[in-house]
Order: sequence, then C-alpha cells, then structure tokens
Amino acid sequence: MVPSDGGTDAPADCIFCSIVARRSDAHIVDEDATTLTFLDLFPVTRGHMLVVPKSHIDRLTDLPESDYPAMLRAVRRACDRAERLSSHYNVSVNQGALAGQIVFHLHFHVIPRYEDHVPAWSKPRGRLADPEASDVLRALTMG
Ligand code: AMP
Ligand code: ZN
Repeated sequence: MVPSDGGTDAPADCIFCSIVARRSDAHIVDEDATTLTFLDLFPVTRGHMLVVPKSHIDRLTDLPESDYPAMLRAVRRACDRAERLSSHYNVSVNQGALAGQIVFHLHFHVIPRYEDHVPAWSKPRGRLADPEASDVLRALTMG
C-alpha cells in the first residue's frame, strides 16, 4: 500500500495521485483520512463527482477489504450531496480501457441526472470552468 498522501510509491504520472498530493488543482468536495472526492474536470452533467482512495489502487478488485467501509461511506456521502441537486444519479466504476477507463486509479463516478437526457457518457464533454465549479461546489456542500 502506498502512503495516503499519494507519496513516493505512487506513479509519477497519475493525475489522481497528483490531486491527492495537492500537486495538481481540483475542486474538492469532500475528504477524509483515506478518500478524496472532487469535481470531474470534464463533467457529464452538473455536479459530476469522482470519489477516489488516496492510495494508488488501479482497480476495485485491488482495494484491500479493510478499506471497503471507508470507501463506501465516502461514496455514500457523495450520493447525499448529489441528492441536493437531483434524486436521480448514476454511481459507476469503469474497469479497463474497453470499459471506458482512462485514469487507472480507482474512482467512483457519481453523476447527477436531470431532465435534459444527456447520454450516459456524452462526448465531447466541455472542461469545467472555474465560475461554474464554484457554483456547483456551493450547491453540493452548503448547509
Ligand atoms: P474514467 O473514464 O472512468 O477513467 O474516468 C476518468 C474521469 O476523470 C473522466 O470523467 C475525466 O473527465 C476525469 N478527469 C481527468 N482528469 C481530471 C482532472 N485533472 N481532474 C478531475 N477530473 C479529471
Ligand atoms: Zn494514482
């Protein structure tokens, strides 16, 4: 297991390790000792979040069983936040390139759904602008 700060054992080119270590910027929604939740930079919909373990783990099947409770609690908190925006949302994990995985650091997508019928994995997806990120962060985290 790598240090929880995404430290020296983490792959140098892993963007999520870099976010965990605060070497790269992200719009952080939630954090605890072993997990981090932040806004997806190319959101499918408004409020699209990613929940990651702080340790570099490639796949769900690599997650140690001892980490299951904290991981699921973090996903649950993200769901609670999603419900501030919509009671309809997807929770999903893409495993392997053929399944759409592009970042090989385990992450749960939490994707609020609205009546705009955006396809499950719409393409192309625009980059999240800072003013929109601030607005959605407020909606997800206030109160
Ligand atoms: P996946 O296709 O399941 O591997 O999802 C990876 C997700 O990470 C995609 O939805 C990307 O938009 C998102 N992503 C890539 N780089 C960043 C970043 N620097 N900050 C936040 N989200 C990112
Ligand atoms: Zn990583």
